[in-house]
Amino acid sequence: MIIDCHTHINNYHDENVESVHACIEDLQQHMRRNRVDIALVLTSYKVTPGRPSTRTSVEATRSLPNVFIVAGLSYLHLTPGDLEELEPFLREGSVRGLKLYPGYEPFYPVDPKLDPVYALAERFDVPVMIHSGDTYTPTGKVKYSQPIHVDEVAVDHPKVKFVICHVGNPWIRDTMEVVYKNENVYTDISGLVLGDFTDRFESFMRRQLQEMLVYGVHPSKVLYGTDWPISSMESYLQFIDELAIPQTDRRKILAENAVKLFKLDDRRKAP
Ligand SMILES: [Zn+2]
Repeated sequence: MIIDCHTHINNYHDENVESVHACIEDLQQHMRRNRVDIALVLTSYKVTPGRPSTRTSVEATRSLPNVFIVAGLSYLHLTPGDLEELEPFLREGSVRGLKLYPGYEPFYPVDPKLDPVYALAERFDVPVMIHSGDTYTPTGKVKYSQPIHVDEVAVDHPKVKFVICHVGNPWIRDTMEVVYKNENVYTDISGLVLGDFTDRFESFMRRQLQEMLVYGVHPSKVLYGTDWPISSMESYLQFIDELAIPQTDRRKILAENAVKLFKLDDRRKAP
C-alpha cells in the first residue's frame, strides 16, 4: 500500500486559471499509474482561481474514497470563521489535518495567534503539518521556516501532533533532532526536488535520509509524500525503493505511519 501524504491541486502554471477538476483528474491518473492508494491534498494559505479553497477542494473530492484534504490556513488572514468552517469537514472526515505555511508568511509556529488552530487540531485529533525549509519563491523568508521552531510549539502543545514537511530541507539535522526529541513530531520527505531527481542529488538525499534513521529518528515518525505536481511520483517511488532500509521500515514510511496519523483505516466521509 502507498499513501502520498503531501500533494497539491494548485495550478502552478497559471494561478489565474480555475482548474480544480482538471487537477483532480490529473492527480487520479498519476495515482493509478503509480499505484498510489490514497493521497492527501494540501490546500494553500491563499485562495486564487488556480488555488482552490478548502471548501471547494472538499466538495470536488467528496465522492473520491482515496483522496482526503489537509486544510491550509493563512496566518495573516486567519479569522475565527475559517476555523468554524472546518468543523463539519473535520467531523465528517473529509479534512484529515491542518497545514501552516511559515516562511511563505512571516510568523513562527509558536505565535499565540495560532492557539485556536492548535486547539482545533487537539479537539479533532488531527495533525498540523508545517511547511519547513526552503520556500520555492525568493520572496519567502526562510528564518520562519526553519524546523527548529517546531520544537517550541510541539513542547507547548504536547497533545497536538506536528509534521515537519520536506524534512526541513536543507536543515535536515535540525529536523532530526526535533523529531527525535519530541514524541509528537513527525516529518515527511516530500518536495526534495522539482520534477525528477538527478543521480547525484538523489544519492546525496538518500544518504541524508538513511543518516536520519541511524541518528535515532524512529521509522514510525517518517511519512511518504511527494509534493506532486512539483515533484514527480515516478521518481519518488524509485527514490524510496532504493533506500537501503529494512522492508518493514519501508512499509511503515510508505503507508502504515500515515494510516495511523491520519486515521485512514476509516475512509468514510460522513459523520
Ligand atoms: Zn507542498
